[in-house]
Order: sequence, then C-alpha cells, then structure tokens
Amino acid sequence: ADFAAAAAAIHRYAPAGRVLLVCHVNPDGDALGSMLGFGLGLRRLGVPALQATFPGAFEVPEPFTALPGLDLLVPEEQAYPEPDLVIVFDVASESRLGGLADRLPRAGATIVLDHHASNTGFGGVRLVDAGAAATSVVAEQLLARLDVPLDAEIAECLYVALATDTGSFRFDMTTPRVHEMAARLIATGLRPGEISRRIFDTRPFGATKLFAEVLGRAELDPAAAAGRGMVWTYATLDDLRRHGQRPYVMDALIDPVRCVAEADVAVLVKQVGDREWAVSLRSKGAVDVSAVALAFGGGGHRLAAGFTGYGAPGDVVGAVRDRLDQHVI
Ligand code: 5GP
Ligand code: MN
Ligand code: MN
Repeated sequence: ADFAAAAAAIHRYAPAGRVLLVCHVNPDGDALGSMLGFGLGLRRLGVPALQATFPGAFEVPEPFTALPGLDLLVPEEQAYPEPDLVIVFDVASESRLGGLADRLPRAGATIVLDHHASNTGFGGVRLVDAGAAATSVVAEQLLARLDVPLDAEIAECLYVALATDTGSFRFDMTTPRVHEMAARLIATGLRPGEISRRIFDTRPFGATKLFAEVLGRAELDPAAAAGRGMVWTYATLDDLRRHGQRPYVMDALIDPVRCVAEADVAVLVKQVGDREWAVSLRSKGAVDVSAVALAFGGGGHRLAAGFTGYGAPGDVVGAVRDRLDQHVI
C-alpha cells in the first residue's frame, strides 16, 4: 500500500483544494466511521474545503446518528461537482458509489482506502489491504502517516468502524493488531460499553416485531451447499411499512439467521424496490460467499458478501442455492 503517495496527494491538494470524502451506498459502521474519523483528522489539519457524502437516500442509520463528525456530511446533490481530491472509504467497486462515481475521473487525485478482497482496482492511489479487519485500520495508518494524533472523537469513529466489521471483535480477523488498535482507541477515553449498546444492542420495539415475523418465515435447506446446509428468509417493503421501520433496521437481521446451527450458509433477501432485492450472504467457512456474490454482480468478503437480485425472492434464493456447490472451499 502506497501511504507515501497518499500523503503526497493530500499535502498537494488539501491545503487549498476541495476535498470530497465518499463511502458506499447504505453506509454501515465501517463506511461512516472510517470516513468521518479520517475527515475529523483532516479538519484537525486545517483543511478548509472538506465534505463527506454517500450515494442514495441521505439517511444515516439511527445507531450512527451520534457519531462525531456528522456535520461533515452533505447530501449527494450538494457534494462538490468537481473536487480536487476524492478519498474513497470501504468501497469494493465503483458501482457501490452510485451517482458519485463521476467525481473520480474529474478529480486531480483519488485515494482509495479499502479492505475488500473483491476490490476491483479502481482509483489512483490505492491503499487496499485485504488483510485489514476494517477500512478504519487503513484510515488509522494514514492518519499516523499525516502526524494527526488520535483524539476521543476520531477514536470513537474508528472504533465504531472496527467493532462493526469484526462483529464486536468476534470474527477470525480479530488479530493482535486489531486489539492493539482497539487499545489505542479506548485509551483516548471512549466508552466501549456505551458505544456497543448504542450500535448493536438498541432497536425499536417495532423492529423486534418485524424480526419475529421475518425469522418466523425462515426456511432450512439441509441438502444445499453440498450438504452443509442453507437457511434463508426474506423481508418486504410492506413488512417494513406495517411495522413502521426504516430499511437500515434490517442490517442486524442477518445475525440471528446466520446463527442457525444446521446451516453453513445464511441468506437474507431484503426488498429495496419493485422486484429488486439486496441479498446478504454469510458463511461459517464451507462456502466462499464472495465468489457467489461476484457471480451475481456483487462482492464482499469470503464469509460475508452481498449483491442486488431481481425477481421473486424464492427465485433469487434458488439461483444462489444452485451456485453454492461450485464455491465450497
Ligand atoms: P451486508 O450483507 O452486510 O450488506 O454486506 C456484507 C458484505 O458484502 C460487505 O462487505 C459489503 O461491502 C458486501 N456487499 C453487500 N452488498 C453488496 C453489493 O451489492 N455489491 C458489492 N460489491 N458488495 C456488496
Ligand atoms: Mn461496509
Ligand atoms: Mn468494511
């Protein structure tokens, strides 16, 4: 990874140019946390023209509405049309940037911070580390390179990102380096218990009822994935409407699905439009679901991936099921 080139681009463009930070559509804790934490770092450096944004509906999921640095955010429509420097966070492919992808070719320089194995190789200066547990790991390294000290606000953003992508420090990529970074962040004075409660352990009562309904229609297919088993369910926009919930509440719904002991693979099909579905895939290790997602035009990590599917939910899942055997590791 080319940290020297990234620092050089920032030193060249940030003091007087327009700097636009972007992350992926439907931003999660890593996308928002790494982008806002890095943005606060640039603000500490005195960067005068600085915006952060993401494509699509300008809605920050409730768990992240207390993040420091939210005032950096502007809606996609207000983002600099011709920025001098674009810095991209947690984006595996340009398709995840929606209408903001056009800013990249217009900018003087682009820097990509990411950790997806499926990263397509877009952008100018590329800090893509598939061994990093979160994009915020890369962001912390670049901040150090720029001599920006961690303060409690930057640390909270980077911590939310790290905790989100490691599943609260439970997944395999929770290495000694991850805990060392967490230690540096916690040492700034942040409150891990309070942050975890806010981002993982808080949801509206209506979401609980919605989860019950969606989990109630889950189906187990023990023969799928060469006998390793697949569990799946789906949630419609009408389910959301009846329970008065916003789409992002479903981001947490894959977790109880993937806990099913009899299935290696979990699939959650979430309606996003007319016959259009955001498909979440999780594996316990037998199947490379990022390869499955890639086959349907998506991407992600070996054990957590996703794509956009079309048609009826049963057909979307059927197509996934038919592909699983090819990607048993
Ligand atoms: P989730 O299921 O939590 O939405 O996403 C899991 C992983 O898959 C994340 O790393 C995310 O970046 C990736 N992912 C989810 N949906 C898509 C998609 O439509 N396209 C691509 N390229 N990656 C996706
Ligand atoms: Mn992400
Ligand atoms: Mn990430």
